[in-house]
Amino acid sequence: MIPYGCQDVQEDDIRAVVEVLRSDWLTQGPKVPEFEGVLAEFTKAEHAVAVGNATEALHVACLALHLGPGSLLWTSPNTFVASANCGLYCGARVDFVDIDPRTYNMSTSALQEKLEQSERTGETPDVVVVVHHSGQPCDMAMIGSLAQRYGFRIIEDASHAVGAEFEAERVGGCRHSDIVVFSFHPVKIITTGEGGAALTNNDDLADRMRRLRSHGITRDPHSMKNLPDGAWYYEQIDLGFNYRMTDIQAALGVSQMTRLESYVSNRESLALRYDEFLATLPVKTPWQDSRTKSARHLYAIRLELERIGVSRKEIFDGLRASGIGANIHYIPVHLQPYYQDLGFKYGDFPEAERYYEEAISLPLFPTMTYDQQDAVVSALHHVLAVS
Ligand SMILES: *Cc1c(COP(=O)(O)O)cnc(C)c1O
Repeated sequence: MIPYGCQDVQEDDIRAVVEVLRSDWLTQGPKVPEFEGVLAEFTKAEHAVAVGNATEALHVACLALHLGPGSLLWTSPNTFVASANCGLYCGARVDFVDIDPRTYNMSTSALQEKLEQSERTGETPDVVVVVHHSGQPCDMAMIGSLAQRYGFRIIEDASHAVGAEFEAERVGGCRHSDIVVFSFHPVKIITTGEGGAALTNNDDLADRMRRLRSHGITRDPHSMKNLPDGAWYYEQIDLGFNYRMTDIQAALGVSQMTRLESYVSNRESLALRYDEFLATLPVKTPWQDSRTKSARHLYAIRLELERIGVSRKEIFDGLRASGIGANIHYIPVHLQPYYQDLGFKYGDFPEAERYYEEAISLPLFPTMTYDQQDAVVSALHHVLAVS
């Protein structure tokens, strides 16, 4: 089976990990701050806070922004459930904004309309989590200006977008947002096994997220309530968690970051090659906003079902039967049973629902060979020709 995504682990990565295993520090050693330094330097963010995965990063990001009971978080329905769950973890209410049919990201016009309506009812959101679907950044300039006008904070869920750019600036620099979240799960752009990071330019948010990832404990006398009575002294001043990344993971991250740009450029060439070979088929290939550079995490096509005459399921099953690990991103979050129990229903976000019914993610990963890609293309031609 040609998988839809696949990590690349090389000898250098293995050496870096083994070096940590032979060292004094498996966790809370020098590798985590080193990895954070690499991420901050690459993105030009002031601070990078490494954690155990992107879900934890989203959670501490929401808490640092004081999301809690009585607050409201909006996100895109076309995402992994974690982008919405982080609001529920904090006791906040969650709502969604429908997607743009071209980018599959949150629609800025739908966001603007929903903000205008919600201002009249006094229900504007406290935090909006935007998701850079497939690795293509959202229109952050527009979303940033709406945030100023309506007074909400922005978290970018950039789990797909490590190495992407908006208006020639790297995602992670927080130009138009408060916090940017990365995932280092093996299917994403670079990996640490499990891993994530929250980046920010705000010193207070960084301090808070650092404390929250380690039990809410501080060793900084300036943040303490009492005077330290010895060098051992620490204080718990927030209710935090153990959301730490290990040095083993961070060493893998430092090593993987040296290949990030080549990963993204391999993904880009493969994506352009798909564009070319799929041009004659009844499918929509991914539209690219010229102000952005996508990290190309996913290559999602939309089937023109009225021209095809067979169902998406038959096409998907046909690809799987030919050894092609196609996938679907995403089942709209509001249609998950847990969210339906909160009152959401089919019909609430029609663009995301329609996208879900038509979309298929084709295999794409940086070490994919042209032979593998040709096999995907010919399987797709085959299943689309049977109609
Ligand atoms: C993968 C992913 C997450 C969760 O990342 P983990 O590191 O697995 O917690 C969150 N949001 C999006 C959009 C993702 O793709």
